[in-house]
Amino acid sequence: MSAKLIKGTVIREEILEEITKEVAKIKETHGVVPGLVTILIGESPASISYVTLKIKTAHRVGFTEIQDSQPVDISEEDLLALIEKYNNDDSINGILVQLPLPKHIDEKKVLNTIDPDKDVDGFHPVNVGRLMIGGDEVKFPPCTPAGIQEMIIRAGVETSGAEVVVVGRSNIVGKPIANMMFQKGPGANATVTVVHTRTKNLASHCKRADILIVAAGVPDLVKPEWIKPGACVIDVGVNRVGEKISEKTGKKIAVLKGDVDFDAAKEIAGSITPVPGGVGPMTITMLMKNTLKSLKSKLKIA
Ligand code: NAP
Repeated sequence: MSAKLIKGTVIREEILEEITKEVAKIKETHGVVPGLVTILIGESPASISYVTLKIKTAHRVGFTEIQDSQPVDISEEDLLALIEKYNNDDSINGILVQLPLPKHIDEKKVLNTIDPDKDVDGFHPVNVGRLMIGGDEVKFPPCTPAGIQEMIIRAGVETSGAEVVVVGRSNIVGKPIANMMFQKGPGANATVTVVHTRTKNLASHCKRADILIVAAGVPDLVKPEWIKPGACVIDVGVNRVGEKISEKTGKKIAVLKGDVDFDAAKEIAGSITPVPGGVGPMTITMLMKNTLKSLKSKLKIA
């Protein structure tokens, strides 16, 4: 059997198209568009490339976008003041501080200073709490888990009553996606097990999963014999395992591998996400969705 591929690259295009249409409609009826600011500290090439992609995507869907680049030696006090400035700016609906931050800055303090109603990354404790309560209380689901849930829904995978096993318990992926999958509502209502490095007999848990979500950061951790025939496998892992020359550009690029042995797993799973091109493209897409949601909630429109 060869599994159906759940491609984030395709789902991303569908969602960005929907967002673009909605933004145009709001502009016509209310005369405003969502505003997103990304704050970049320093010049790490990886951070610059993530921020550039976020800004490009925001521009594509019709948002007002600001890239606020600050020197690596900005003081914590000045950074907090900058965030407050955007908290009080009516034209800004989403504030994003690109992580990681330089060592002299307290990341927790920075994230907690962002107005929870503009915290489109969904990392503020208020939004983590809202996610835990579920239902209408949820304001900004964190982007990677929201992308995973959206992929599962759009792939037509039944979640109600399904056994979901999540490998990993990080604050940005494992914990929130586990929480989202057992809530009442569409794309949820599942029975969830979370496994981690202290779990005994990892394979036996994975084998029970109708939906297996893997976010461990260990290349090829999940073996084909751990997968229930016909299961939906969502591979969140992005692991750099080497370098190659791109056929397109002739430049050196990273060779990426997921946490699941893809070639073997696709012969057993019913559906599976590839790496790259699976969950990866969904994160920025859901950031756009959250920023639009922020403006809609301010305008009190559905
Ligand atoms: P993380 O903070 O390092 O957490 C990894 C989790 O996996 C931990 O809970 C750890 O358990 C568990 N784990 C590690 N090795 C394991 C093993 N051998 N058996 C069982 N559990 C194991 O990582 P993360 O931030 O969640 O990211 C996970 C992966 O997803 C990474 O490859 C990352 O690059 C990728 N990622 C992708 C996206 C995207 O595509 N947009 C976004 C975020 C992350 P303990 O808690 O016991 O240590």
